[in-house]
Amino acid sequence: MLDSTTACTPPGLNWKSGESFARHTTMRVGGPIRFWAEPASLDDLASTLREVQKRGLPLQVLGAGSNVVAPQSGFEGVVLHLGAAFDWARVEGSHLVTGGATFLPKLTKITLGHRLGNFEWTCGVPGSAGGSIWGNAGARGFNGHDFESRDCAADLHSLLAFDRSGHRVELQRKDIEFSYRKSSLGELIVVEARFALKPLSEAQARRHTEAKNELLARRRETQPVNVPSAGCIWKNPNREACEATGCRGTGELLEKLRLKGLSFGGARISEVHGNFIVSDGSGSGDDVRVLASEVERQVLQKTGVHLEREVRFWEF
Ligand SMILES: Cc1cc2nc3c(=O)[nH]c(=O)nc-3n(C[C@H](O)[C@H](O)[C@H](O)COP(=O)(O)OP(=O)(O)OC[C@H]3O[C@@H](n4cnc5c(N)ncnc54)[C@H](O)[C@@H]3O)c2cc1C
Repeated sequence: MLDSTTACTPPGLNWKSGESFARHTTMRVGGPIRFWAEPASLDDLASTLREVQKRGLPLQVLGAGSNVVAPQSGFEGVVLHLGAAFDWARVEGSHLVTGGATFLPKLTKITLGHRLGNFEWTCGVPGSAGGSIWGNAGARGFNGHDFESRDCAADLHSLLAFDRSGHRVELQRKDIEFSYRKSSLGELIVVEARFALKPLSEAQARRHTEAKNELLARRRETQPVNVPSAGCIWKNPNREACEATGCRGTGELLEKLRLKGLSFGGARISEVHGNFIVSDGSGSGDDVRVLASEVERQVLQKTGVHLEREVRFWEF
């Protein structure tokens, strides 16, 4: 295993050693990172990317770390993290403009504070704006009348990204393909984004705020929100598979198959929500991976359903 305490940082660059995935992911697992780069500006980001390329180092981008499970052996490369310099947001008319590092629940607060609607779904998703756009995060939100599913793609207007060589790339919404928890952004790093939201009257803003509170309360009731996890591990099966198994989603399917509580090492299928793997703090990324594979094996054997992962299990 890599010992990051002995890794030397390249001179003249704002890179650190001594960081680990356990420290920077919500699952709280994963080993040491050779170089941690947190650029202080767009120019700094461009020179970091050029330097990584010049040295031929492997690169991973990490946002809030809420959708990643990393291996215990760590990473012999550079983890690029958009930190404080990219954690900002402002409202321009009915547009929300945000840095790539800004936490989604912070954006819920800002938008409702400016009487802008459609972004209530973000209140319980603990991701960064950049990572969430890249993976097209989404959840139940509020449309003024009903609760309905919404995602980043629904209200995105445009974004600024960098390619791995350090070049700026400006994209409009129409230039990007989005599908369920997926985008066509590939290797691009999202540093800034603009969303077009719905202006609300004072009375509407009150109703939207109540709806946001209901969404949060529902999450607290139905999800293990106070223990380390990476959210839902698997996508929900397609309609055919749901009809065949009589379940509305993966959580219900795992409950029906009595897989809740199944554990390996420090990782366990949550008793609260069957689609969450939780870590007890002693677990490793490898425990989570083994448990996920065992669940997939049992589900396939018992129902014929292939579970597809939503969380990214990194292997280097
Ligand atoms: C309790 C809990 C509840 C959750 N609920 C939901 C939910 O309701 N809906 C939902 O969709 N997700 C949910 N998630 C998962 C997660 O919060 C989202 O997927 C989130 O959008 C991930 O963003 P991140 O910044 O944490 O990305 P990370 O986990 O840091 O990275 C995920 C992927 O995005 C890439 N990436 C990160 N930042 C950037 C960037 N700036 N530019 C380009 N690529 C980047 C990474 O390389 C990686 O491949 C939940 C997670 C938890 C722990």
